[in-house]
Amino acid sequence: RAKDEGRNAFQLYQPAMNARSLEHLALESALHRALAREELVLHFQPLVDIGTQRTVAAEALLRWRHPELGLVPPADFIPLAEETGLIVPIGEWVLRAACLQHAQWRAAGHGELRMLVNISARQFRHEGFTATVARVIAETGMPAAQLTLELTETMLMDGSEHIIGVLEGLRALGVHLALDDFGTGYSSLAYLKRFPIDELKIDRLFIRDIDRNDNDAAIAEAIVKLAHSLGLRVVAEGVETAAQLEILARHGCDLAQGFHFSKPIEAGRFVLPG
Ligand code: C2E
Ligand code: MG
Ligand code: MG
Ligand code: MG
Repeated sequence: RAKDEGRNAFQLYQPAMNARSLEHLALESALHRALAREELVLHFQPLVDIGTQRTVAAEALLRWRHPELGLVPPADFIPLAEETGLIVPIGEWVLRAACLQHAQWRAAGHGELRMLVNISARQFRHEGFTATVARVIAETGMPAAQLTLELTETMLMDGSEHIIGVLEGLRALGVHLALDDFGTGYSSLAYLKRFPIDELKIDRLFIRDIDRNDNDAAIAEAIVKLAHSLGLRVVAEGVETAAQLEILARHGCDLAQGFHFSKPIEAGRFVLPG
């Protein structure tokens, strides 16, 4: 019996594996075509100034409008795009689309809004990255100072001169740099001082229980203090309630982003500041 069961388990397992790798292959070729077929779309989520309650910026968040699967979230295809290198052209598309959207906001009198764009590790490591950013801002007329690139701690982890050189090259273009998901990566405080970054985004993980967990509140408060002492602006990610916002306000956090204000939405539904 046990032997039969073992064999059945094996037989069940094999087709499942094949189905999975077929699915993977199908997804990969579909993703290849997604760019050409204009199936990628950006949604935008406001960043609100906690002091004035005004929307001061927007983060561009990628979605894939798959003809059969519907709206696919980035977590379901960005890892594959990274693995295959497709993230390089996709990332350029995101940057250009975000800058073109900003041009529309400028035309509507909202050039003061900043635009935040997520950059993946592989895209950042690609040797043409700085040149691509320079070309896209030139082609779209994007005011560089209104563009913030979101990087993550792990991308900067090795702290090499090469990475510092890339960051300085980007800063020389006039764009700003933010550290996304702060606190979840390899948090070395040393690089905060060494790297030319402007903004820290406290990961949602530390915001979630901030009104119930004293440790989380203490961590958030410490990050705000640390950031301010280094001259960095602080954004709280994933703010869902007024109670969370109230604590962040008390700790002097600068900006907040989260479902409490708005989910990421299509550009046409984005509420411009009045
Ligand atoms: P992220 O950059 O940290 O973006 C924030 C994520 O948290 C977004 O998920 C957003 O929808 C979600 N979020 C915002 N407010 C709340 C809230 O109050 N509660 C909860 N539960 N979630 C909230 P999304 O859009 O699914 O994106 C996930 C991740 O995918 C992003 O995390 C980012 O790392 C990556 N990503 C998104 N767009 C791009 C892109 O254009 N390029 C690259 N390389 N990565 C991207
Ligand atoms: Mg982000
Ligand atoms: Mg984040
Ligand atoms: Mg992220």
